[in-house]
Amino acid sequence: MSDPSMEVKLEVKQASKEVKESENVAEKYSAMTVSKNSEMNMGELSSAFSAVPTHKPVKKQIQFVEDKQEFSRFPTKAGRRSLSRSISQSSTDSYGSAASYTDSSDDESSPRDKTQVNSKGSSDFCVKNIKQAEFGRREIEIAEQDMSALISLRKRAQSEKPLAGAKIVGCTHITAQTAVLIETLVALGAECRWTACNIYSTQNEVAAALSETGVAVFAWKGESEDDFWWCIDRCVNNEGWQPNMILDDGGDLTHWMYKKYPNVFKKIRGIVEESVTGVHRLYQLSKAGKLCVPAMNVNDSVTKQKFDNLYCCRESILDGLKRTTDVMFGGKQIVVCGYGEVGKGCCAALKALGAVVSITEIDPICALQACMDGFRVVKLNEVIRQVDVIITCTGNKNVVTRDQLDRMKNGSIVCNMGHSNTEIDVASLRTPELTWERVRSQVDHIIWPDGKRVILLAEGRLLNLSCSTVPTFVLSITATTQALALIELYNAPEGRYKQDVYLLPKKMDEYVASLHLTTFDAHLTELSDDQAKYLGLNKNGPFKPNYYRY
Ligand code: NAD
Repeated sequence: MSDPSMEVKLEVKQASKEVKESENVAEKYSAMTVSKNSEMNMGELSSAFSAVPTHKPVKKQIQFVEDKQEFSRFPTKAGRRSLSRSISQSSTDSYGSAASYTDSSDDESSPRDKTQVNSKGSSDFCVKNIKQAEFGRREIEIAEQDMSALISLRKRAQSEKPLAGAKIVGCTHITAQTAVLIETLVALGAECRWTACNIYSTQNEVAAALSETGVAVFAWKGESEDDFWWCIDRCVNNEGWQPNMILDDGGDLTHWMYKKYPNVFKKIRGIVEESVTGVHRLYQLSKAGKLCVPAMNVNDSVTKQKFDNLYCCRESILDGLKRTTDVMFGGKQIVVCGYGEVGKGCCAALKALGAVVSITEIDPICALQACMDGFRVVKLNEVIRQVDVIITCTGNKNVVTRDQLDRMKNGSIVCNMGHSNTEIDVASLRTPELTWERVRSQVDHIIWPDGKRVILLAEGRLLNLSCSTVPTFVLSITATTQALALIELYNAPEGRYKQDVYLLPKKMDEYVASLHLTTFDAHLTELSDDQAKYLGLNKNGPFKPNYYRY
């Protein structure tokens, strides 16, 4: 058996080695201060990254909740089956933003049965209704306003076209924010074909606007399972056009190409993957020695983790709760299960409203953090009869059991902010003695035989992603990270990235953050030579070792 203390020492040693290398390399670029970063052109940027050593995946504690997806599972194409269960989990569970504002209920026909042509005469797309393009354009323009960092990257790099020759197939949510990313990639020289990673999240009008400008989009809100894979296939399989880069969210596109077009897949220069699930699948492939393409795990970049998990949840938990319940939270007894990044964000927002927040934790460090932040740490069973609201944020399963739900008081609310719908034992509530009453969209009253009602939100799926929107600014950070990762992989000289999964270089993370600082007119302090020497840092970063936890 290995000695755990030895493992820790080894990890720290490894991490310090990486930092040292970064510093040595960064010294070459000492002309670029962080404030100057915002002025740097793409040549400088890419040379800065190229010199930063690549990072092997480090040990991470990502929660993979019963993820049954495997690359070996080949999806069926036959027939238009029901959406339930058989469809890829990521296609229904992953990160969504605003739902479509367009009501297309008047048109029930499948886009696959229609021939549509954009104003340039192209019919190389399949969306709900190309006539919605103008409306979609307005949505994209609104999103651009809160994505100034990405727009500034676009403007800065536009003349250099660092993605000239890149043929990118993308599978992400198709929303106004993603459209800003796609149009940035096009402005930087890429040709793009795009499909949706989620059957519900496509903003039809945005898909139309993109198709109108010549991006081949295959997606609409409310696809069937068969539509989902058909769209992916149409995206990839286009005569005379062979993709050389993948931008994926959930791993479904990667999976499809790996299984169905292995010869095309082998020639891909790089994969950028954004989701926990997709990254997990890539690591599985890599472990099995089957990953023949370098891949960048942007999910674990610091800027993404902090903004998606902590700040995004701090912003959106109240939105989700308010839209669904109309409840006043001041003075309410709320239990948040899990005091990780998501839990911390939720607690901060609820505390600010005057709620009485308690925490459940299994980890003494997080529990102690909760105490220091002024929250009581309790066992759920101790408070279950008094609690008004339970919010799960653990990434674990069966955190709220049927037995506990039985003991909750009338009118209490249960919901989940974790990745998958396993945190609340919703299946145990589907028994004959309990009545389910759908009172409004995403809100069910579960009624016990004595008349007690428990309010279940979004059937235990992620509350914020199911019932509210995600701030555009957060998506700007992710999109900027994705764009930079694509540029880096596409421009990397042969041999820099092997057939493995890489984390973003720290300097790139810092660059994404520095681009976004402009929005707040934030002024960074620059290290003096003396201070830099004292701290043993390069004046231009990276400013923290890889093991720094922020
Ligand atoms: P994390 O690992 O930082 O935090 C989870 C915490 O839950 C940990 O501190 C862990 O000790 C604790 N925990 C585990 N089992 C528990 C149990 N049975 N009872 C009490 N505490 C328990 O993870 P995170 O970044 O906070 O993410 C949590 C979940 O939220 C993940 O599933 C993640 O994918 C998801 N997530 C959701 C959103 C969103 O927008 N809703 C955004 C990002 C991540």
